[in-house]
This record gives sequence, structure tokens and C-alpha cells, in this order.
Amino acid sequence: MRMVLLGAPGSGKGTQCGKITGRYAVKHLSSGDILRRQRKLKTQLAQKAASYMDSGELVPDDIIVRIMAAAIRETSDGGFVLDGFPRTIDQAAELDRILEDADGGIEIVLNLKVDDDTVMRRLTGRRVCPECGAVYHVRTLQPKTAGRCDRDGAELVQRTDDKPEVVANRLQAYHRQTKPLVQYYRQKGILHEMDAGREIEEVTKAVFAVLDGFYAGRDDKAVCRCEQRGSQ
Ligand code: AMP
Repeated sequence: MRMVLLGAPGSGKGTQCGKITGRYAVKHLSSGDILRRQRKLKTQLAQKAASYMDSGELVPDDIIVRIMAAAIRETSDGGFVLDGFPRTIDQAAELDRILEDADGGIEIVLNLKVDDDTVMRRLTGRRVCPECGAVYHVRTLQPKTAGRCDRDGAELVQRTDDKPEVVANRLQAYHRQTKPLVQYYRQKGILHEMDAGREIEEVTKAVFAVLDGFYAGRDDKAVCRCEQRGSQ
């Protein structure tokens, strides 16, 4: 399955990708996570991307396309869910070109819809573990010990780009540059939309309903982990 998860920052794309990879045999490719990993490794491309990321602007298309093209090529069985990429019409067109040369195009796109106030609340309250990447929230997902990661005890931090002024920029970039992708994929007839302002479990249920339906129409049902396990 070749899938794209669309939605504003804070719409829960990363969270739902975790649920999706637990149930279906696809690899999670998050452009934001890949960029953050590369920044830690101080790769040349990621160094160029750093200032854009910290101010909440989109990284130039040529940089992110090179990084994501490499990540897609590395997925050996071809099954993936893209999270945070594409984010502009030009990136989507590049993605189509990349996939034309490989097995085939994007088959399914899920758009997680959420309003700006919810995004602001979710992102400015988010805290992450710098060691393992675990995600918490100051109100809705508190660690057992205040300010410390449950897994490794590391001190939780706020991502630079989760500060209110940067979130405002990220939302602006989303509305200006990324939202047109909804129409791009609607025209291709592969878009499914859902209300992502609900509880995580409810959104997951809606996501699974769409994806189970997708797999039901295919011959290679074994790629669904739920079939392998015979559960749910
Ligand atoms: P995310 O964690 O997906 O919100 O991404 C964090 C930051 O990485 C964004 O605010 C952008 O600066 C950059 N970024 C991630 N994906 C892309 C993309 N597809 N195009 C341009 N910039 C991106």
C-alpha cells in the first residue's frame, strides 16, 4: 500500500501512523522525523533545512524531495505511509514522478481535518523526550513523573517549532502551501477525509475503516497484519 496522510501540523498524523503501522505492513516515512534525525547527524542537506524548520517555514522543495526520494527508494517492499510529505503541489508532482519510475503511484490519501485552535492547543502543550522521541502533553498525556520520560527518565523538552509564534507560522504555511493538496488528490479520486478533532481512538477507528475497505478490495490481503494475526 502506498499511502499519504494529509493534515495540518498537530492533526495527529504521526499518532495515526503509529496505529497504521501496528495493523498494516507499511513503513512510516515522516519527513519531519527524517529531517530531525538528519539534523542530529549534521548532514549537509539537513543543515540547510535547519533555519526553515526553526522558524516554522517549509524547507525548499529541492532539499526535501531529495531526502524523501532516498527514503522511499529504501523501502524494500514498497509499502509505505507518507507523513508530512508532500506539502506543496510541486512536491506532489515530484512524488508522482518518483513513483512512476518505481512500482506505481499513490493509492490512497487520508486527510485529517482539524481546526486551528485545536492545533494551537495540541502543539504548544506537546513535550517530547530528546532521547527516545516519546511524545507527551502537559494536559492530555502527562508522564508519570512531571517533566520526565516514562521510558528512560530523560528531561522532556518543547520542540523549538512548538512555540506559539512558530506554530502560527506553521499553520500559515499549511493553509497557503499544503491545503491545495486536498483538491489535488480529490481530483485523482483517492482522497478520504475525516474529522481529526476527536479522541485518538475514534479517529483511528475511522482510519481503519477506510484502510480495511481498501485491503478488502485487493488480492494481497496478507499484507494486513490483522489478517496475519487473525485479530479484530
Ligand atoms: P513536521 O514534524 O512534519 O511538522 O515537520 C517539521 C518541519 O520540517 C516543518 O515545519 C518544515 O520546516 C519541515 N518539513 C517537514 N516536511 C516538509 C516538507 N514536506 N516540505 C517542506 N518542509 C518540511
